[in-house]
Amino acid sequence: MLNQTTSAALFDRAKALIPGGVNSPVRAFRSVGGGPVFMQSAEGAWLTDVDGNRYVDFINSWGPMILGHAPAVVLDAVREALPHSLSFGAPTRREVEMAELIREMVPGVEKVRLVNSGTEACMSAIRVARGYTGRSKIIKFEGCYHGHGDAFLIAAGSGALTMGEPDSAGVTEGVALDTLTAPYNDLVAVEALIAANPNQVAALILEPVVGNMGLVPPAQGFLQSLRELCTQHGIVLIFDEVMTGFRLARGGAQELFGIKADLVTLGKIIGGGLPVGAYGGREDIMNWVAPAGKVYQAGTLSGNPLATAAGVAQLRYLHENPSIYEQLNTTTTRLADGTRQIAAELGLHYTVNQVGSMFSLFFTSEPVTNLDDAKKSDTAAFARYFHAMLERGIYLAPSQYETLFVSTAITDELVDKYLTACRESLIEAHN
Ligand code: PLP
Repeated sequence: MLNQTTSAALFDRAKALIPGGVNSPVRAFRSVGGGPVFMQSAEGAWLTDVDGNRYVDFINSWGPMILGHAPAVVLDAVREALPHSLSFGAPTRREVEMAELIREMVPGVEKVRLVNSGTEACMSAIRVARGYTGRSKIIKFEGCYHGHGDAFLIAAGSGALTMGEPDSAGVTEGVALDTLTAPYNDLVAVEALIAANPNQVAALILEPVVGNMGLVPPAQGFLQSLRELCTQHGIVLIFDEVMTGFRLARGGAQELFGIKADLVTLGKIIGGGLPVGAYGGREDIMNWVAPAGKVYQAGTLSGNPLATAAGVAQLRYLHENPSIYEQLNTTTTRLADGTRQIAAELGLHYTVNQVGSMFSLFFTSEPVTNLDDAKKSDTAAFARYFHAMLERGIYLAPSQYETLFVSTAITDELVDKYLTACRESLIEAHN
């Protein structure tokens, strides 16, 4: 058994001070039981907790650390920026460089606005879509997560799903009425919503590859059909690429699938581990954002000098080293195929979904194409597996409904370590 006494003591202190003892719900380990691991430091693929235990990281801060922890290229950029100012609240050269990089890397981005989180990016993007179209309603998919803005906490994924609260208390009926939901990968359901709400739908927002109910890819042709439907009905198509942006390809899912959204929301990787988000897209839509246009959106710390230093450094590195994506795909395919094969050898024909450097092992033998499928997973067996992996020094997302994120720091040797632990843990979870 791992010695986690310092983590346990800190969690006790935290619970008296912070709701549930954590600053973001999924960190509390509620769905897998036990207490969270408090972290001390990290380098490359490895995390070290406050008791000195070490783990190979397959969460990577839920996505941002695509180059692993403490990459020199990002740390050096932050160190260089540090003495100049922690915040100006005035424009800086680096914000311009960041916008130029984003425009170069992300298809369809003609103008972009920096914010501080993925939540802000998504909230702002739908406000702009509403201003631009003069319509009120949005369509989202069950199990997709777009941050904790009121409009999105209807049939939400991620922590909301893990906690059994996909529809949050505190969201007014009025707001909820403006959010229409459909099952992911169900084009007929989307068509029916549009038909039932003629000229009322401002935006359709989705994760082009879902990471927030576990990893769920779009069905063949699904994204293209949504693109056509939105064009036909004057609906702003928003790809939420907070997870997938700069991860599935340099230009995210838009590049991978060859489909252009009208707006795209970004987060995680774009800040290199510091708080950054962004939304951007067609110039005629983005020109509605204040002070150019009538849709208000602002931020005291937006474009923060340290956050943009980290972001520019990480994005530039990805831009200049495209072979990283091949490396990530190869590593992740070994992990995903290996997991699938081990499960099958043990008579567990579990579903493993993978796209690029994101993958999930679902504890169900049926295909997982939407939220109802994902919910067929044996979450009790997942919880036992999670703890067995943790004991073996493998740090996974503490929920069946999350994806794993692979970084460039995962070597062949670490893939082998993961697969050995996976076999032993699957056996332990089913004994
Ligand atoms: N959109 C997606 C697809 C996400 O996965 C997340 C967070 O996990 C968000 C939006 C919200 O981002 P943040 O947690 O930075 O507010």
